[in-house]
Amino acid sequence: MTYTSAADTARFAALIDQLTLEEKVQLLTGRDFWTTWPIEKIGLRRLLVSDGPSGVRGEVWDERSPSLNLPSGTALASSWDGEMAARYGAMSAVEARRKGVDVVLGPTINLHRSPLGGRHFEAFSEDPVLTAEMAAAYVAGVQDNGVGATPKHYIANDYETERFTASTEVSDRALRELYLLAFEKAVTESHAWLVMSSYNSINGVTATENDLLETPLNSEWGFDGVVVSDWTGVRSAAAARASQDLEMPGPDGFWGAALVTAVEAGEVAVADIDRKVLRILRLAARVGALDGFDAVQPVPVTVEDGIEFAREAASAGSVLLQNQSRTLPLAADTLNSVAVIGHNALHARTQGGGSATVLPEKIVTPLDGIRAALPHAEVSYSVGAVVQKGIAELPLQSIVNPATGTPGMLVRFLAADGSVLFTEDRLATALTYFGGDAPIESADRIELSMAWTPAESATVPFGFAAVGRGRISVGGTVAHEGEGLSVGGTLGANMMAPPSVVTTITVTAGEPVDLIVEFDLTTRDMDLPGVFGITAGLEADDSDPAGLLAEAVAAAGAADVAIVVVGTNAQVESEGFDRSDLDLPGRQDELVRAVVAANPRTIVVVNSGSPVLLPWRDEVQAILLTYFGGQEYGNALADMLFGHAEPGGRLPTTWPKELTDVPVLDVTPEDGILRYDEGIHIGYRAWLKAGTEPAYEFGFGLGYTDWELGDLAVSPSVSADTDGWLSLTVSNTGDRAGKQVVQVYLSRADSAIDRPVRWLAGFAAVSLEAGATALVELALPARAFADWNNGWQYETGAFAVHVGTSVTDTPLAGTVELVAAT
Ligand code: BGC
Repeated sequence: MTYTSAADTARFAALIDQLTLEEKVQLLTGRDFWTTWPIEKIGLRRLLVSDGPSGVRGEVWDERSPSLNLPSGTALASSWDGEMAARYGAMSAVEARRKGVDVVLGPTINLHRSPLGGRHFEAFSEDPVLTAEMAAAYVAGVQDNGVGATPKHYIANDYETERFTASTEVSDRALRELYLLAFEKAVTESHAWLVMSSYNSINGVTATENDLLETPLNSEWGFDGVVVSDWTGVRSAAAARASQDLEMPGPDGFWGAALVTAVEAGEVAVADIDRKVLRILRLAARVGALDGFDAVQPVPVTVEDGIEFAREAASAGSVLLQNQSRTLPLAADTLNSVAVIGHNALHARTQGGGSATVLPEKIVTPLDGIRAALPHAEVSYSVGAVVQKGIAELPLQSIVNPATGTPGMLVRFLAADGSVLFTEDRLATALTYFGGDAPIESADRIELSMAWTPAESATVPFGFAAVGRGRISVGGTVAHEGEGLSVGGTLGANMMAPPSVVTTITVTAGEPVDLIVEFDLTTRDMDLPGVFGITAGLEADDSDPAGLLAEAVAAAGAADVAIVVVGTNAQVESEGFDRSDLDLPGRQDELVRAVVAANPRTIVVVNSGSPVLLPWRDEVQAILLTYFGGQEYGNALADMLFGHAEPGGRLPTTWPKELTDVPVLDVTPEDGILRYDEGIHIGYRAWLKAGTEPAYEFGFGLGYTDWELGDLAVSPSVSADTDGWLSLTVSNTGDRAGKQVVQVYLSRADSAIDRPVRWLAGFAAVSLEAGATALVELALPARAFADWNNGWQYETGAFAVHVGTSVTDTPLAGTVELVAAT
């Protein structure tokens, strides 16, 4: 806790005294998309904030300023390892410092209430305790290195449908026991410097005006930082009366002049304004943006190699779901031929879509990683089934910028009279403008020009993806004019899963063709000023699905082993919309079955950010869930496949057999309201209550060695003011080093209140050499026994303790007595 003493507060107050009302109010709304206003006369420089949370994008969304792309939040949570989360946070701080960023807009710690949530790849888990541990560690990792962390989105923002307007109807008990818990821990234990309020309303009141910003956040947890709104989340001048401190983005918003008037009219107290300003100054002091106050950490204290860390984190968070007859790890030196199959093996998803997107310098695909690990084997590739929907970028090495003659694309913004307003030499054909200098608002059109040299002779669908009207020119002649119509109608859908406008062109291998996409910016459909996205490129050729399948089957049949990478696409998992089912898109289920029939030695790799259905799971020998694995995805995959690393993950969410088995499916508000009617029963709690067996239960995951747990000892009692404890021995009985995650659950058979069948109370990630045994000690925090009923209640009596390696595999049992506090 820094800059919270009375003396510091007095220093901030003295600075505030020097400001006019206009200056104070101006500070409360951003200066632009990512920065706040500087105020020179008090020595305040601007603050730069940036998404996060799986990397740090920086001030621009531009491939010319690349960022480290870490594995998705779900992969991090699957590690069940707070140390990993702290390193991940520290890595983000190092990236932030490199890019001049003061505040990382993460971690995302909403819960996986229903697997249909479209943005879950970014968040951690269906369980509040696991989420809370990872959140607190992440926040500490960021802030120990002098950069602010922003747990988000506060609160009950666990779905994306109607996300700007929906109201979540949720009980106090579910809020306290589930949805608020990770925020509580991030604030009370790791002293988060910011919290981001959400877009949705909670019980009818929009988050930025909701009393929940004051209680419990400030009044109970002692939050002394800045509540920043989600982008455009402030909806009225009156929000300034709530404990909402900073409105983003700027410079226009609901505050500004309207708020000055409201203060002058006595509708908003000056003290409310001063409190917000003080918090922003305190944040500025902490990050070193205010003269006279030393930054908490002037330089990052933890610097490790980002690429190496990304690779390690990807295997630490991958979950081995199936491994019949110990198919994995494969002995690389015994393989002569390997068939790599699947769209995602070549066009891997290393991150989910949306504001969390960062642009890495280089991505190692599964195919790259496997080829690099097997220099002497023949590694074939076949797509098998198309997964991509919409336009994919053209590879940089295949395009030339006509202005520079170097790899890339020329981008020009033109006025209505054709004069050039702004020019960029880009290194990618996917463009996103989210802030920055490009004249999105004032230009009439944008023009993308490149000479493309195809690798193969073919007839291909070329065009652009964006909502609005444009023209495609081939070889100097307009070949097609068309309009992309909004599908989801929201910013998220328009940006992340835009419609395509294409024309078919016939190209010859090695012969460059001049391509121009001209898009009328006046027809674009984005909810936010200054925001625009467009991708030029190719649609996947899905004209012969049977041919693609047959090719993959032939390759599998001819190889020693087949590795099929299945996964989702940007239309399935992105910010801005939810999912309508959990199926793998396209014909991937058919593909897996056909490949297994051709070669029983088949390994399936799952490249999704959250659960998908695996209907063929009992027919394949090995299944490895790798999530969105970050930029080192392919190398990490090869490390695991060939035994250089063990998949270290355990499921942070329940994976269903069938969609209809899922207990909580409803993510669609009705008349603007989404009711969390299931209360405290989400995730595995709801599965256990329903008595339905999932495909893979919460906490489950295999490894490459064997384990034994024993000698459980549990403290006889626990009370509201005295934590309990337990200890056990964990032995690695196999023949290689490995990691196990010991999980502790509680239950209460004879409770007077409705409780989960069992609930997670604690866990520990344990790494041991072959043959080694460790004594593991864990706290049983008093809070794990409490229930919320107008305050934390402690129901005295006996609680059962279940210890094991998943929510249902708990070989060790004990009892602890909750006694009245002394
Ligand atoms: C997202 C936030 C993000 C913000 C800024 C919003 O749409 O919900 O998570 O931090 O945009 O990009």
